[in-house]
Amino acid sequence: MLEIKHLKVKGFETVAVGKDPAANFHAIIAVHSTRLGPSLGGIRMWPYKNEKEALQDVLRLANAMSKKAAISGLQVGGGKAVIIGNPEKEKTPTVLHLMGALIDSLKGQYIAAKDSGIVPEDLNVVSEKTRHVTGTTGKHGGSGDPSLSTAKGVLKGMQAASQVVFGSQNLNNRVVAIQGVGHVGWNLGNLLVKHGANLIVADLQQERAARAQRAWKAEVVPLSRIHRVPADIFAPCALGGVLNAKTIPQLRASIVAGGANNQFLDEERDPYLLMRRNIVHVPDYVLNAGGLIQLVVREVLHQRRVASWINNIQRTVRQVLTESLRDNLPPLIVANRLALEKIGT
Ligand code: NAD
Repeated sequence: MLEIKHLKVKGFETVAVGKDPAANFHAIIAVHSTRLGPSLGGIRMWPYKNEKEALQDVLRLANAMSKKAAISGLQVGGGKAVIIGNPEKEKTPTVLHLMGALIDSLKGQYIAAKDSGIVPEDLNVVSEKTRHVTGTTGKHGGSGDPSLSTAKGVLKGMQAASQVVFGSQNLNNRVVAIQGVGHVGWNLGNLLVKHGANLIVADLQQERAARAQRAWKAEVVPLSRIHRVPADIFAPCALGGVLNAKTIPQLRASIVAGGANNQFLDEERDPYLLMRRNIVHVPDYVLNAGGLIQLVVREVLHQRRVASWINNIQRTVRQVLTESLRDNLPPLIVANRLALEKIGT
């Protein structure tokens, strides 16, 4: 039986822990803010070591969703869910149904979407227990995988950053190093090739790197080298924490702009290290909002104007980078300032 416990966490509206030991279900939903509207964010399934580790992750991710929605001008708040478990082995229909029941217990305060370890088909199963789900497949009334929209937004942001750094937004013949050619990285690579860019790639999964080599004539480099190859733009599209005290001195790109969430290992220190190296960073939650935009515009607002919302990412990136230069502050600090102004905290 599903047991739900609510935790009091400073700065968060709701934190609900759901457990059903008999079904091997253990999940947490964190609602950071509903000031601008219901909170929306993905469900991540990951083999966290314990509840403490899962709680840390879900709080950090929910907070970032608030900022992402606010800076994108969307009238939704930030929330996130995590399921503790290995998605390859422990993702059963029962687990997904229990997740649906946990979401439903919040009565629309949290609207789910997909994140790592969850695919649109899983959301179809979740939606059998709650209507507060976005990103299900078309047959289930959803708008499906948001990765292409995310990649389109990343491209817009790269163009804006190129305008600021190189004086032209033209990506023709620019060298872009993509770390991770999964959902976002693959769609991004396809768009960049259409814009004439030359690609260097690395991926943990050999066959994905090989596919990029075949499709784009991309140069494949080892995982340990991708962030330090000479390039115009380094695009982290795999995991968080890739910008840190070890990697930042090794970077040889002029711009860092990619879809991965939480790219800095230490958000207090590392944005300043990068700025001191004169490398322009485009804050991840500004750049990778395209997927969220798709879900909100199509499934919450029931409108079709996704492209014009995604185009706005270009304007926001320009604003963030301009204010960053003017105030001599890292772009992430400027973006946080703008987002918090919009949330009204
Ligand atoms: P994904 O799992 O489809 O792709 C990630 C890829 O990175 C995989 O191919 C994986 O093999 C590779 N990888 C893992 N570790 C690596 C390493 N050390 N070096 C190089 N490659 C490595 O995930 P995704 O949906 O493409 O998301 C990528 C990132 O973008 C994540 O941080 C995610 O949170 C973020 N993001 C995704 C979306 C979206 O719409 N999918 C939206 C916003 C943010």
